[in-house]
Amino acid sequence: MAKYKLEYIWLDGYTPVPNLRGKTQIKEFSSFPKLEELPLWGFDGSSTRQAEGRSSDCVLKPVAVFPDSTRKNGVLVMCEVMMPDGTTPHPSNARATILDDPDTWFGFEQEYFLYQDGRPLGFPEEGYPAPQGEYYTGVGYKNVGDIARQIVEEHLDLCLDAGINHEGINAEVAKGQWEFQIFGKGSKTCADQVWMARYLLLRLCEKYCVDINFHCKPLGKDLDWNGSGMHSNFSTKFMREKGGKEYFEKLMAQFAKNMHEHVAVYGPDNHLRLTGLHETQSIDKFTYGIADRGSSIRVPHSFINAGYKGYLEDRRPNSQGDPYQIASRILKTISEVPTS
Ligand code: ADP
Ligand code: MN
Ligand code: MN
Ligand code: MN
Repeated sequence: MAKYKLEYIWLDGYTPVPNLRGKTQIKEFSSFPKLEELPLWGFDGSSTRQAEGRSSDCVLKPVAVFPDSTRKNGVLVMCEVMMPDGTTPHPSNARATILDDPDTWFGFEQEYFLYQDGRPLGFPEEGYPAPQGEYYTGVGYKNVGDIARQIVEEHLDLCLDAGINHEGINAEVAKGQWEFQIFGKGSKTCADQVWMARYLLLRLCEKYCVDINFHCKPLGKDLDWNGSGMHSNFSTKFMREKGGKEYFEKLMAQFAKNMHEHVAVYGPDNHLRLTGLHETQSIDKFTYGIADRGSSIRVPHSFINAGYKGYLEDRRPNSQGDPYQIASRILKTISEVPTS
């Protein structure tokens, strides 16, 4: 038997963007615990905007488990928040009610800024660094500074150790801005990993006195600095195996029809980012285009070359969006389009 450190992690009740919370309990297991072996636990919901003070207990229900390589016998436990009865999902618990389909694959491209002293890492105290141009996928101190690469590399290793399915990382267009990509089969599987990767990034950066700014336009919409998105790539079994131009056009028509419902769950303040500039389409338009980074949905060349088969990229979701709700909304629109 060994004593395991179980970090129960959940999303709190703050709106429009929940915070990640976590606390540790120690339990003995003969080997690395399986999900079914992990007990329900509780927390004080009155301190997380999830309950009133008089009846403050909320329940944590483990839903996914990851190894934590930073701690001896460490376990990261993603949880859903339940009402005191233990079975009714709390209103803040989006995960409990989303659409899911293991045959629909998602790839989320999470962009974010490293921040220190209230500004992007590498920005001078006054004024601005050299304008955008060389930072994207850049190399060299003048482009990436001193500790940023160390942070993103350490984060990548922590995620890989946890079994999170990273597909890549890159320096982004603005100074201090980075991206990681996570691929998963099914809404919950993929989105759990995105939230856990966010958690690991925030926690890792504590020791560097660096914060993560997930806001979609931290430098404001009037300056020539890119915002942060979370491009959401998706493919159903039908899109991968059958597809076709006719289905594609019907699907895009349904996306156009549901434009506002999509944007409603694609992250707050997106009007600041979706302006038609900086590789975005404006928030009140829906367009799609082949390899077009100025459209709402980008159709990769590979999709056309394969005969309208493969995956599509919805470029509208932003960096503060909830991947549970984004994936579910995409699935809902897909479900409205007949495949025969
Ligand atoms: P770009 O920056 O050019 O938009 P990235 O390489 O950053 O592209 O991201 C592409 C994403 O597409 C990756 O996250 C990858 O996991 C995802 N992806 C690739 N194939 C599929 C697929 N069949 N279904 C869903 N997502 C996919
Ligand atoms: Mn990318
Ligand atoms: Mn990007
Ligand atoms: Mn992209």
